[in-house]
Amino acid sequence: MVLDKFSLKGKVAIVTGSNTGLGMGISIALAQAGAKVMGVSRSPSDGTLKAIGENFSYMVEDLGSIEPVKRIIQKTVEKFGRVDILVNNAGIIKRQDAIDFSEEFWDDVLNTNLKTLFFLSQEAARQFIKQGEGGKIINIASMLSFQGGIRVPSYTSSKSAVRGLTMALANEWAKYNINVNAIAPGYMATNNTQALRADEKRNAEILARIPAGRWGTPEDLQGTAVFLASQASDYINGCTIAVDGGWLGR
Ligand code: NAP
Repeated sequence: MVLDKFSLKGKVAIVTGSNTGLGMGISIALAQAGAKVMGVSRSPSDGTLKAIGENFSYMVEDLGSIEPVKRIIQKTVEKFGRVDILVNNAGIIKRQDAIDFSEEFWDDVLNTNLKTLFFLSQEAARQFIKQGEGGKIINIASMLSFQGGIRVPSYTSSKSAVRGLTMALANEWAKYNINVNAIAPGYMATNNTQALRADEKRNAEILARIPAGRWGTPEDLQGTAVFLASQASDYINGCTIAVDGGWLGR
């Protein structure tokens, strides 16, 4: 039955940025679909633990460097026995005019959004290959994987690179039955966009350009996340799926 292909029963997922926003929504969705989930964030993921219960565990790690990468895979295997799915969701944004943009804002964003995403994917892929049953990597991209944005040069660079890297890794790892894909969320109501939503002018401009006429929510990503984590998407490789209320098509 086709719906059985969406089940994540018996699967183990790692979700970065699991304590809030989109990562919390994705963790809940994967668990509802049957997976055991290891969350990773700088802050404790207690709200997510409360929402999911015993099929969720979390680690507190700073993904601003690649130091915790091997430990994350090891601890997940210790706790849940294996790893089948990695969702690279943790990400930050820094806003400043390009003319004044600091090296610190550049490095912070590129390290978290791109460098750690790559090395955590590499470590997960090594584990998938060792297990011999394939795996799923889902990167969280952005509208700025397709567009330039304003006052966010390091964020745009990181998210455009995430889209390219998603294709590059898919090309190398499809032969191991590892699917690497990305989700590009549109404008979603989370901490990440609090400043934009608080700016009346920008908020009105953004809403006027979204065909769906509203900001997205973490729930809006849940179906796509489960789909890309499941057997139902086994022949999808290197794809970045926009979940954006129509923003890109406008
Ligand atoms: P958010 O509410 O700000 O959450 C960001 C998450 O990333 C938090 O869990 C945060 O953990 C984690 N994180 C950031 N830096 C970290 C670090 N150094 N080490 C460990 N964890 C770290 O934002 P969100 O909107 O849910 O964003 C999730 C992803 O979606 C990001 O990659 C973002 O770029 C992307 N995205 C968001 C939107 C949107 O409109 N909201 C649109 C497109 C793409 P702590 O809270 O513990 O720091």
